[in-house]
Amino acid sequence: DRIVTATASSQDEAVDRAIRPKQLADYVGQPQVTEQMEVFIEAARRRKDALDHVLIFGPPGLGKTTLAHIIANEMGANLRHSAGPVLEKQGDLAALLTNLEPHDVLFVDEIHRLSPVVEEILYPAMEDYQLDIVIGEGPAARSIKLDLPPFTLVGATTRAGLLTSPLRDRFGIVQRLEFYNATDLAVILKRSAHILGIEIDEAGACALASRSRGTPRIANRLLRRVRDFAEIKAKGKVTADVVEAAMNMLDVDPQGFDSQDRRLLRTIIEKFDGGPVGVENLAAAIGEEKGTIEDVLEPYLIQQGFIIRTPRGRMATRHAWLQLGLKPPRPEGE
Ligand code: ADP
Repeated sequence: DRIVTATASSQDEAVDRAIRPKQLADYVGQPQVTEQMEVFIEAARRRKDALDHVLIFGPPGLGKTTLAHIIANEMGANLRHSAGPVLEKQGDLAALLTNLEPHDVLFVDEIHRLSPVVEEILYPAMEDYQLDIVIGEGPAARSIKLDLPPFTLVGATTRAGLLTSPLRDRFGIVQRLEFYNATDLAVILKRSAHILGIEIDEAGACALASRSRGTPRIANRLLRRVRDFAEIKAKGKVTADVVEAAMNMLDVDPQGFDSQDRRLLRTIIEKFDGGPVGVENLAAAIGEEKGTIEDVLEPYLIQQGFIIRTPRGRMATRHAWLQLGLKPPRPEGE
């Protein structure tokens, strides 16, 4: 498995439970999001209302699930967890909705993957806390209406553009998570290290932070791998030298790039003359799914300025050529 992937592995999950922050005050970084959520949550609590529905979008591993749990926790409510692809039938969603208690949070991950029939019953549920479903088929079919308790839907998606607009419009609060800077990641790493009983110094935390691709999930995973290395080779203490040695062994470069990133950049440059190349062609050339490129591989490369997205496809920037030790082409007109 790829160590710098932002998607969760089963190993991550057990550790996640221990280190996932439970309060807004422990949610590192994302100042705009935390500032706003603090106000919205406090206001809803004072009015004794359910919090308005929240849409959270951002690449995998940036803290969408964590924020949903924090919202429930701060509201003193339960969180029910589901996901777009799991809710196949109207009845699946109806079962969840009718089991909610007032002010509960229903967290729907990958909400862009809800089927249209399920989405349809979600609208009145979100708007009027009403469940409107048809049971039975043919002449015996009957439509029933049920009142639901006031609840908060927290939807998460990797890309807001994938949501239908009627669904997007029903969220009163929309939060976009950004990649974390190295300072925030170092704070997250030190906090996790503390909880897991790992000794790490400042330089070690900074060295790991810069290789974490702006993503807390990757930071925490790299920390666990470095810990193994430190225990075997450095008496357990994570220092900058230990990070460097461990990352060399794992083939993660100082930027957090691994062979897959380099292959993606190299393919754009060598097979497609630096682009533009359509994402389908690129996916075929490197043997990856289009969605993997869009959700997992390219967001960080784009954010770091190695790739740009143009109407005609992806292009490698000068940075990308230099990163691979290649001479960038001269800009036109020079
Ligand atoms: P997502 O749902 O966006 O894929 P998660 O919420 O599962 O991401 O976050 C992945 C891991 O990163 C969690 O285990 C959590 O410990 C950590 N994490 C995410 N955001 C933060 C944050 N703001 N502060 C501290 N740790 C975080």
